Amino acid sequence: MGYKLASRKEKKDDTVITVGNSSVGGKQLAIIAGPCAVEDRDLFIEAAVKLKKTGVQMLRGGAFKPRTSPYAFQGLAEEGLKILAEAKRITGLPVVTEVMDTRDVELVAGYADVIQIGSRNMQNFVLLKEVGRGDRPVLLKRGLAATIEEWLMAAEYIMAEGNNQIILCERGIRTFETHTRNTLDISAIPAVKHLSHLPIIVDPSHAAGKWGMVAPLAKAAVAAGADGLIIEVHPCPGEALSDGGQSLNMVNFSLLMSQLRPVAEAVGRNCFDEAKNLVRQNII
Ligand code: PEP
Ligand code: MN
Repeated sequence: MGYKLASRKEKKDDTVITVGNSSVGGKQLAIIAGPCAVEDRDLFIEAAVKLKKTGVQMLRGGAFKPRTSPYAFQGLAEEGLKILAEAKRITGLPVVTEVMDTRDVELVAGYADVIQIGSRNMQNFVLLKEVGRGDRPVLLKRGLAATIEEWLMAAEYIMAEGNNQIILCERGIRTFETHTRNTLDISAIPAVKHLSHLPIIVDPSHAAGKWGMVAPLAKAAVAAGADGLIIEVHPCPGEALSDGGQSLNMVNFSLLMSQLRPVAEAVGRNCFDEAKNLVRQNII
């Protein structure tokens, strides 16, 4: 076997990753939300404050963006990290952000509560080792064309360096289907639960590529046993500099949060309290 530390055989009980006041992998469903990229200070802070009210546990936003075209918006780099830090100060919510280059790991770790390794870097072994030497929890996205075993071996690279705090993230894989951006591999959830003790969350936004499909995929993921979700939300998706077409606006995201509660409870998970309040108070 190509992985040991990540294996369920090695450790029987579920790993729970604690981040600030929340945790991923326990009874609580963890919801991470925010724009694809940090684009602008005021926009991000506005989004962060509204997201806090919906009951999310963490904020997301990329400062270093892996764009397919070199001419597309590449992210605000350190300026973006500073905006994330301000949003964290204001809301008290931990932040998740991507690192793409070994030379930036120290910088990103100085601001991020959770370091994201994106799909395109899942087998960047040098980068995996570098975050493995640090002490920040790592959100490890599944590669675009990676098998579950290859993905777990990527996690093993991080763990072999001493960092056991890994959150796996299924975000859809490349198939022959073109209707969606990627095909969400729902079966990865029970498969990972069987093979590994690490928590697994789902990113329905990058799987679907279309905002209208995000809510049904999110609910399916929770029903199938995902430990959480990472969802792209933008105050004005039509004006987003990246991934606007798959981003929920604030109203649709709040609606989804309230719809997730009964699904989460049906599979024995605790859910955020704020979603209940939103419904009760008729805010959404
Ligand atoms: C992202 O989270 O914005 C991202 C680029 O994700 P992925 O690596 O899954 O494509
Ligand atoms: Mn994105």
